[in-house]
Amino acid sequence: MAAENKKACVIGWPVAHSLSPRLHNYWLSLYRINGSYDAREIRPEALNQALSQLEAEGYSGCNLTLPHKELVMGLLDEADATARQIGAANTLIFKNKKRIGLNTDAYGFAQSLREQTGAIKASKAVVLGAGGAARAVCAALKQEGVQQIIICNRSSEKAQALAAHFGAGFLATPWEQRETALSGCDLLVNATSLGMQQKEPLALDLAGLPLSAVVCDIVYRPLNTPLLLAARKRGNRVADGLGMLIWQAVPAFEAWFGVRPEVNPTVREYLLAA
Ligand code: NDP
Repeated sequence: MAAENKKACVIGWPVAHSLSPRLHNYWLSLYRINGSYDAREIRPEALNQALSQLEAEGYSGCNLTLPHKELVMGLLDEADATARQIGAANTLIFKNKKRIGLNTDAYGFAQSLREQTGAIKASKAVVLGAGGAARAVCAALKQEGVQQIIICNRSSEKAQALAAHFGAGFLATPWEQRETALSGCDLLVNATSLGMQQKEPLALDLAGLPLSAVVCDIVYRPLNTPLLLAARKRGNRVADGLGMLIWQAVPAFEAWFGVRPEVNPTVREYLLAA
């Protein structure tokens, strides 16, 4: 008898930009797994119905991308501690008639940083942005024991709310003071959408940033953002955003398809060729 055909997908609105189908189908083919991974464009108001449909069709689970990650929290039976801490889930597992939500973005960020720049030893980090991705970055930095985390966001009330949410060690600083905040910083993370294709570049003079600092940009289109190019040029170690995208998919793939996929240069190149 042929092995069971396991199915998963990504749900978004829009979803065409997502690299997840390419990534999961690459691993399915590499590990010769009888399975599939597709993309579904679902409006926010139709999310609950879409999840029920996937359950009825025998899906093992799904990924969620904008704008569903926070919305889905009210539609779950269970959520892991990281999803509860962040208030968003990017991975769902359907098991025993239950919807279980995980957040693997924080894990993906930390693993990618480790893979590209070594152990995370920062004591002062500056996070630019206070959206969904910044929440995952903050959760990861807290889990990694970074003592001081400065959040800097254009809308300062969102930075303040995020700092208050994560508590001890987190501080909000005005967007206009982002360059001053770089003094003594050993990890800088861009978690805004600035620097992305078709978006404004991130205006940031790195002169005040120690040369020993690691600079991470979670934007991955383009891979070499102007921030990373500037940081590399002056001698800082850098981590790009593609690693986070790949690593966040590892626990999801394992949960749905039963194999823990390997992250290596070949999978990065395969995604970059897209
Ligand atoms: P959100 O829309 O939730 O947040 C966007 C952030 O960018 C906010 O902090 C926003 O500030 C800021 N921003 C947008 N425009 C400007 C501007 N003109 N000037 C200053 N700040 C600005 O998006 P996400 O948090 O989900 O995603 C952010 C980026 O991270 C995206 O580029 C996304 O592709 C990337 N990402 C990468 C992942 C990966 O795996 N590598 C995973 C998830 C996201 P304000 O609050 O003031 O609007």
